[in-house]
Amino acid sequence: MPTAYRTLDSETQFLKGVGPRFAAAMAKAGLRTVRDVLYHLPRRYEDRRHIPPIASVRPGQFVTVKGELTAIEGRPMRRGMVIVRGTLSDATGNIDLVWFNQPWHRRQLEKARGQTVIAYGMAKEARWGCEIASPEYEILGDGDDAEAFARIVPVYPLTDGLPQVTVRKAARDAIARYLDAVQDPLPSWILREQMLRDLRWCLRQIHQPESDDLRLEARRRLVFEEFLVLQVALAMRRAETHAEIGTCFPISRLLAAPAPVKAKQKAPPPSALFTEIEAELREAEPLWDQIHRMLPFELTGAQRRVIEEIWADMESPHPMNRLLQGDVGSGKTAVAACAMLAAVRCGYQSALMAPTEILAEQHHANLREIFEPLGIEIALLVGKQTPTQKKKAAARTASGAAHLAVGTHALIQEGVSFAKLGLVVIDEQHRFGVLQRAALREKGLGNPDVLVMTATPIPRTLTMTLYGDLDLSVIDEMPPGRMPVRTHAKTPGERESVYKGVRKLIESGRQAYFVCPMVSESEKMLAQAAEELAYRLRQEVYPDLRIGLLHGQLPSKQKEEAMDAFRRHELDILVSTTVIEVGVDVANASVMVVEDANRFGLSQLHQLRGRVGRGAHQSFCILIGDARTDDAQARLDIMVQTQDGFKIAEEDLRLRGPGELAGTRQSGNVEFKIADLVQDGKMLEVARQVAIELIRRDPHLAAREHQALRQRVTEERPSLMAVVSVS
Ligand code: ADP
Ligand code: MG
Repeated sequence: MPTAYRTLDSETQFLKGVGPRFAAAMAKAGLRTVRDVLYHLPRRYEDRRHIPPIASVRPGQFVTVKGELTAIEGRPMRRGMVIVRGTLSDATGNIDLVWFNQPWHRRQLEKARGQTVIAYGMAKEARWGCEIASPEYEILGDGDDAEAFARIVPVYPLTDGLPQVTVRKAARDAIARYLDAVQDPLPSWILREQMLRDLRWCLRQIHQPESDDLRLEARRRLVFEEFLVLQVALAMRRAETHAEIGTCFPISRLLAAPAPVKAKQKAPPPSALFTEIEAELREAEPLWDQIHRMLPFELTGAQRRVIEEIWADMESPHPMNRLLQGDVGSGKTAVAACAMLAAVRCGYQSALMAPTEILAEQHHANLREIFEPLGIEIALLVGKQTPTQKKKAAARTASGAAHLAVGTHALIQEGVSFAKLGLVVIDEQHRFGVLQRAALREKGLGNPDVLVMTATPIPRTLTMTLYGDLDLSVIDEMPPGRMPVRTHAKTPGERESVYKGVRKLIESGRQAYFVCPMVSESEKMLAQAAEELAYRLRQEVYPDLRIGLLHGQLPSKQKEEAMDAFRRHELDILVSTTVIEVGVDVANASVMVVEDANRFGLSQLHQLRGRVGRGAHQSFCILIGDARTDDAQARLDIMVQTQDGFKIAEEDLRLRGPGELAGTRQSGNVEFKIADLVQDGKMLEVARQVAIELIRRDPHLAAREHQALRQRVTEERPSLMAVVSVS
């Protein structure tokens, strides 16, 4: 075949060993083209250069063994169980291969009696020597031996109906005939700087490794490439945002006191003069002074730093696209308030979006307290409002009578418009998914600056993939005087003493949260669990105390009443589902009791614990749970050991893998074909730096040596963006 026809887009059925017979099975495994096959990485490798003699196999090891299949038996056991047992023999001894309740292996093996079989699995102690339960195995046909032997053999991930041999043959053929058609997307200067091998060499080593070291070197490069393509796409998007024209807030003019206002020549009537002067004074007040007057506390150094970062973005003529990361309780709301104040002073409106009505209402109440004395008007927009209420609020944002709007999704729904929207703040972002600027524009909200706030502690590696197109500000300091929350893991048997301890704290004037067991994902089931817990506490444990109930199934009005009553200290205990997980702020609440804590994820527990420890009192978090699995025990241990959200996030990533992390679940899995976010975190960082440098040098990848990379990025960008941005 002339090389010109050998494109990587050729269908797999033309590869050796596939044909029409296995084409469908290949496609089902995602292997449609030769390119797919080349990038289909082995799951593991079998080193058949050194297959140990059977007699040397010890229990507790993953081993590859080879021998003649000398015996097969299928034995029905009690209760309908079937055990299939095959015996492999070599010159040194025998080992059994065992399957429970998978009778079809018997049919397969019957055909192979007397033939050579290679098997892989965990060796376990058995009555006579060792056995391997549910091994992977391969029957060596006559033609196969020479090819498959004395090599490091790739073992590919499979789907039903696709034999290992087929994929192996296809990959060999793809390497043999198509490697020339592979174009390296990485320019040579990057390969040189990063000391990486070229792509053809790497693909060969991946599918036909000469040694483990070379194979790992090849993998390293493919990981880098995968990260780089993503990071370049993100860097390009960031550059595009930076090139757009947005709002320019003249904030530096507000920082210094302007020249004193000269008295006007023509004196207006005295009363009007007074208000005018006062208005001018207010206009003239330096921004930091005004903030000082507005907030009941001194900002931390970290808060001031990120405020300045945000202001600098707002002042630039390009739209802001910034992620503000700060652990629970680090004071993100105050930072948002300062950004919004600056916008108002520059004559623009701001919108603050929260993920739940409870949180929107809390923000509304808090912001009113600080902003109303300054004459700044705030509208509230939440889904549960009556049409009339909504209309009224929308009219105020449309006319500009309201300087700020606080709300849920309702804020960007049809019928809501703004007179002059300049800034959008999105709180507790993980509940929204990444909100695209495009979505705001589509909704007719112009091209405002966007500040996304998140407390979900996300490991840096994930931040770089999920939010790699946002600029990042981090609050890395807690407000002063916070005492660490004392965290205890208790068994269900110790519940009585927990209840006693909580009673003592309540008697000394504190309040407590009780979070009900995470019985299921269903809101209905959760609501029921919360009601049961409330019932039990009211009837049996604290009949004399004031206990409220909060869950997602309650009508909005009742939720609001419960929250308000708790805030006003008309309740001692609030029994809740995880609806209080996010953002709720009641300083006098100093105890958090989580029932069945072993069922919660780490980041959830961290969020829940973040509800306490907000006031001057020593706070406690009691995790009641029966940790039956190692993972559950590990989670509880981590919670007891540390309060550092980022440490917890790293552990969470390690224990659960990135796809499972709270909040990323709905944004699609962060799935890489080759890379592993936990293992390859450092490489991601390197790739990000290289991508930034590359886009700085050649923003549109116009140079000839960057064409191949540009093509790769363009091809993959839609799917990459789908991974990193779902709203
Ligand atoms: P989060 O970052 O979790 O959203 P909040 O903005 O709700 O945190 O702030 C948590 C609590 O800390 C609030 O009660 C807030 O008033 C208070 N707070 C914020 N900044 C400071 C500060 N610099 N000094 C003292 N208290 C602060
Ligand atoms: Mg908050």
